[in-house]
Amino acid sequence: MKRNLKFFQNFAWILFILFICLSLFDIRFGTLGLFCMISPIFFSSIGKGRLHCSYYCPRGSFLGKFLYTISLGYPIPSFIRNKYFKNIVLGFILTVLTTSLYTGGFTLINIGTTLFKIVLFTTILGIVLGIIYTPRIWCMFCPMGYTAELIDRKVRSHNK
Ligand code: SF4
Repeated sequence: MKRNLKFFQNFAWILFILFICLSLFDIRFGTLGLFCMISPIFFSSIGKGRLHCSYYCPRGSFLGKFLYTISLGYPIPSFIRNKYFKNIVLGFILTVLTTSLYTGGFTLINIGTTLFKIVLFTTILGIVLGIIYTPRIWCMFCPMGYTAELIDRKVRSHNK
């Protein structure tokens, strides 16, 4: 099992490239971005913590794979780990998402465009920060990873 997970982690970045290419070909494929929203929530809800982030996330795999050798390794600013900062980023992404879906409608084109833009923008940010600091710095405040963390905490406290 562990070997399979490791294998997936090493090659999940291919899915990320595929997602970008397919979305550029037809923006409706951007709806596949829903996978990266549902999967972390699903795994943390069933008590698997951040399993998605550790092994399945195509973007996490992409950042780790391609920035590993070029990251400059500057010290990570402390505010990145701050929960208020994470809440602000989460709130911002949720606002952009809901506003765009509300104003543009729940069509495949609008959902795909919205998710693709969010993924693209946050990935560019993740790449820039990843080059300056550490490859997966985006994962320290990524709204989906943070949501999974919050759900995981709730699940654990409930199971105590
Ligand atoms: S924190 Fe976000 S980008 Fe990083 S692995 Fe988790 S879901 Fe993917």
